[in-house]
Amino acid sequence: MELHRLGQPPTNKQPGTDPVLLPSNIKDELQAVLTDPRQKATFLAATAPHSGDWLNALPIASCGLRLDDEAVRVAVTLCLGISVCVPHSCSCRENVDAWGQHAFETGVE
Ligand SMILES: [Zn+2]
Repeated sequence: MELHRLGQPPTNKQPGTDPVLLPSNIKDELQAVLTDPRQKATFLAATAPHSGDWLNALPIASCGLRLDDEAVRVAVTLCLGISVCVPHSCSCRENVDAWGQHAFETGVE
């Protein structure tokens, strides 16, 4: 089954690269059952217009557009709201949670 934006004809793009837009009533129902702020933020980000546009960027290294495998892994896991790493202690002795939130707060891994 080919996924495409609802209400728009299929394009010549690779199947599955465009986010599927949800009817607003279904989006509202899904959002209403999300109680965890992280889940809610992930859902809103994933359903926002152009949220998947980065997947269409050509991986041109000279323009800084090529992501290595680890960068893609982290980006995809963050988009899906799943854990990025095993919780551990940072070298600064702060705890790093499964979503790597500490890295965004301090700029270190
Ligand atoms: Zn740290």
